[in-house]
Amino acid sequence: MEANMYLCVGAGFSCAVIARKLAEAGKKVTVIDSRSHIAGNCFTERDAETDVMVHTYGPHIFHTDDKEVWDYVNSWASFKPYINRVKTTSQGKVFSLPINLHTINQYFDKTLSPSEAKEFINSIADKSIGEPVTFEEQAMKFVGKDLYEAFFKGYTQKQWGLNPSELPASILKRLPVRFNYDDNYFNHQYQGMPEDGYTKIVENILDHENIEVKLELPYEKEMLEAYEHVFYSGPLDSYFDFKHGHLSYRTLDFKQEIHDGDYQGTAVMNYGDVEVPYTRITEHKYFSPWESHDKTVIYREYSRLCEADDIPYYPIRIVGGKDMLDKYVAEAKLTKKVSFIGRLGTYRYLDMDVTIREALDAAEITLSKINNNEPVPALFVNP
Ligand SMILES: Cc1cc2nc3c(=O)[nH]c(=O)nc-3n(C[C@H](O)[C@H](O)[C@H](O)COP(=O)(O)OP(=O)(O)OC[C@H]3O[C@@H](n4cnc5c(N)ncnc54)[C@H](O)[C@@H]3O)c2cc1C
Repeated sequence: MEANMYLCVGAGFSCAVIARKLAEAGKKVTVIDSRSHIAGNCFTERDAETDVMVHTYGPHIFHTDDKEVWDYVNSWASFKPYINRVKTTSQGKVFSLPINLHTINQYFDKTLSPSEAKEFINSIADKSIGEPVTFEEQAMKFVGKDLYEAFFKGYTQKQWGLNPSELPASILKRLPVRFNYDDNYFNHQYQGMPEDGYTKIVENILDHENIEVKLELPYEKEMLEAYEHVFYSGPLDSYFDFKHGHLSYRTLDFKQEIHDGDYQGTAVMNYGDVEVPYTRITEHKYFSPWESHDKTVIYREYSRLCEADDIPYYPIRIVGGKDMLDKYVAEAKLTKKVSFIGRLGTYRYLDMDVTIREALDAAEITLSKINNNEPVPALFVNP
């Protein structure tokens, strides 16, 4: 083993950020990925036929309240202003999401003011529900049967493969309604889209003389011997050869179509009815609204249970599985010379800003541990 050499497994944001910080501190870092490209699930590339920037693993919008993370990503790429505005087709009509004053007025064919709408929603909310236990009860208690069925029931069922009456109330923590016409999907202070896509950001982060990137190279346990420490951003259960079973994930199938002109006039159209098999259609040229293209690329997005050969997308932490996770976490804590990081390594859904924040913090802790000759933690956060 050569001193000062570190291995990062995965070329997504988690490993790229850590690799860069270590490289800047004079460490030699090898970054490997089993895929043929960098940037992990945030990978974007131009479609050869249309030149549209496509978000290959699903649409990614950068949004955060973390000023340091916002400054960090802006130091690697030029960001364009972008506001995520989502529409939904439900019961044969198009509405704006999240449910706002426009949605309420349109759905109920009214012209309510904010205070009237508040009173109205209060009057239709299901008051027979005391302490809600399920997602369905929580939604009914907040917004009543009509809005629940139009905007939550079908979509949630398709997304999670479970009836909302089987999901916990905790998923819907706050009243999911705005009593004004604000249709910005996110509440965060900073929001934008990288002008040249996410792959370019990761490419810039990895571009350092102390970083070597090797693609189409899956991690093997024997690699550990050649390095001082390994940062592993692959699936936690896969590291331990699934010895306690497979952690549950939802996977997504994207069916791509190319059309002339404009397909749906917006970036994201959800489909709330359970009879429509897909959850949403995304039209990728609308994620770069400053560009113009004659043709358009759309993805129809289908959600289903993740099986052995599928790409894991969303951890299903809401239905049991806690014992299995605890066993893997206990194993991880006993593993020497390996840190489990990122969305797969810690089995959590993480937005990009949280991923980057955790990676920046992990790098800082790592460098301090190295300087003090102490072991680097197996986990920087508790999954
Ligand atoms: C559908 C979808 C939409 C999303 N939209 C948004 C959004 O709008 N905004 C937002 O902020 N976030 C969004 N996210 C979250 C975002 O994708 C994550 O924050 C980010 O990808 C996490 O980066 P990561 O490096 O931890 O993991 P990843 O990007 O998954 O990278 C892990 C890498 O490790 C590699 N790997 C795994 N196992 C091995 C192995 N054994 N050997 C070698 N390589 C391996 C994988 O190939 C992968 O490239 C979305 C996520 C999904 C699923």
